[in-house]
Amino acid sequence: MKILVLLESRGELTLGSLSVIAAAAQAADRGHMELHAVWPEPDHEQLHRLAGLGINVLHLVREDLLPPYSQEAWIPFLTELAQNLDARLIAAPASAWGKALCAALAARLDAELAQDCLSLDWTLDGTPLVRKPLYAGKILADLRLDHSPALVTLRPRSVKGAKRDGPIPRIVGHEPSLSPLRCVLKELVPLSTGAVKLTEARVIVAGGRGIGGPDNWTALRELCDILGAALGASRAAVDAGWIHQGHQVGQTGKTVSPDLYIACGISGTIQHRAGMSNAGTVVAINRDPGAEIFQYCDYGLVGDLFEIVPKLTLELKALRGQGS
Ligand SMILES: Cc1cc2nc3c(=O)[nH]c(=O)nc-3n(C[C@H](O)[C@H](O)[C@H](O)COP(=O)(O)OP(=O)(O)OC[C@H]3O[C@@H](n4cnc5c(N)ncnc54)[C@H](O)[C@@H]3O)c2cc1C
Repeated sequence: MKILVLLESRGELTLGSLSVIAAAAQAADRGHMELHAVWPEPDHEQLHRLAGLGINVLHLVREDLLPPYSQEAWIPFLTELAQNLDARLIAAPASAWGKALCAALAARLDAELAQDCLSLDWTLDGTPLVRKPLYAGKILADLRLDHSPALVTLRPRSVKGAKRDGPIPRIVGHEPSLSPLRCVLKELVPLSTGAVKLTEARVIVAGGRGIGGPDNWTALRELCDILGAALGASRAAVDAGWIHQGHQVGQTGKTVSPDLYIACGISGTIQHRAGMSNAGTVVAINRDPGAEIFQYCDYGLVGDLFEIVPKLTLELKALRGQGS
């Protein structure tokens, strides 16, 4: 039996993919299994990044045979590969790509699927065990995936600390035959260029209704720049039309796992928390001392964000020798 991971690229291998490799490598060690990986859009100059991470076999397919992002093309190939390998577990990043691919693959394999998990473990009797939030993050459920194969998507950055002393993967090339496609991807249009990606960011500065209007993001953007952070937002700010929905964190927005989350002018409702409860350190800036977010932040600053955030940015600039 094997573990199979599906790797995602966007210019380069995503952090979510590296996180899945780390989790799957630990599980493969514990279950004494081989770890196989499929990289639908390999960058041959980046193959060295996969050395030592615990992958035993890397399956590569000629890009002209199976176009990336085409489920119609990939599902029959992945179904056959999973069956031939007798894969016990198939894991992918919990990105839009990974979740859609695993849902389709689970349907084709008639297999169980746990989406958006926080961790992956392996019981002594050889059963995958995952932890995932339910009811908008109100509870964490531990699930045993008894049936084989099982499919799992893992949140980016949920598992840290990749293996470094594993094997160099053996590469197996595939040349599947492709039936005519009904749906063809013509172009990928990124939402914004240059911005740090929210779901993979180590630091997020997020703004809510307290921002007060569409033209008031400058203070937060400057803090993002000095911290190398991504800009997040509450749904209230998005619904008011002050920022694009791609920035929304929460139950109906993105689920993030940064090391540091700075919430500015956000009250901290359960729906917002659902998207950031996996953050490492939470800092809240809010002028209402009774705001809900103060109940679960690590550091709380009571005051006007338009006074506090610029001061914070100035201090950080001074610390980094960039003071004006
Ligand atoms: C089904 C469903 C799904 C939802 N999904 C999401 C989701 O994905 N993400 C999400 O965020 N919400 C979501 N919501 C909405 C959620 O319930 C809240 O309405 C929303 O999160 C509130 O956003 P907010 O904290 O920015 O606004 P508010 O709750 O209005 O809070 C604004 C805060 O800013 C503070 N403030 C104001 N001015 C300043 C200032 N100058 N300086 C400092 N502090 C200031 C105020 O004291 C207040 O605490 C969802 C709701 C439902 C019903």
